[in-house]
Amino acid sequence: MNAIDPHNKELGVLERLRTIAREHAPAALASSFGVEDMLLTDLIDRHGLTIGIFTLDTGRLPEETYRLMQQTRQRYRVPLTVFAPATADVETFAGMHGPNAFYESVLRRRECCYIRKVKPLKRALAGKCAWITGQRRGQSPIRRDLRFEEWDADNGLAKFNPLADWSGPEIWAYIRRYSVPTNTLHDAGYASIGCASCTRAIKPDEDERAGRWWWEEPEHKECGLHLRREETS
Ligand code: SF4
Repeated sequence: MNAIDPHNKELGVLERLRTIAREHAPAALASSFGVEDMLLTDLIDRHGLTIGIFTLDTGRLPEETYRLMQQTRQRYRVPLTVFAPATADVETFAGMHGPNAFYESVLRRRECCYIRKVKPLKRALAGKCAWITGQRRGQSPIRRDLRFEEWDADNGLAKFNPLADWSGPEIWAYIRRYSVPTNTLHDAGYASIGCASCTRAIKPDEDERAGRWWWEEPEHKECGLHLRREETS
């Protein structure tokens, strides 16, 4: 077997997940139902790993994502926990700035991501020893140095990116091999999928995250869930 054998890569990520489950319990996968998250969900379920799965329902997700969320609950046995933003936060933001104020400035956009994603994430991570993401180095220039393991200083726990070295075609090969359900928006040219208001399809020559907050400069394109220390200063 060589290093790019697909089964070899699959075994590699399975071994990483097993190690996380054994040495960092309780651990949880943060799923936004992207194709990488679906791959990890499939592996966790198929191998009966003791890793929970949670999602952040921002209240602004595309209908296609809600459909996949429902489908995921039906297909997999592993429990899925949903965290929503605080009603008071959403009401205050909309009352002060308007429901779509995130288009006006990076500051407003980060405020919206903070109340709809970052604060619910803190609740989701309470009591956890580690969390897992589907991030990959190939998704965008600002993720090119992504490590398998990081320290999440803001939330005070380990953070793992077990698919860091996977390419897009490798992910899709796994998805097809095991008939894993995916978001139908991928068929319409969406690569990375977040809130409906802040996601568009990408062109063939664009990087995978170009459709997220497309009106902003590339260096601002993180929502606060994955900011590293050097990116927050
Ligand atoms: S992605 Fe857009 S709508 Fe969703 S939380 Fe961030 S700014 Fe708000």
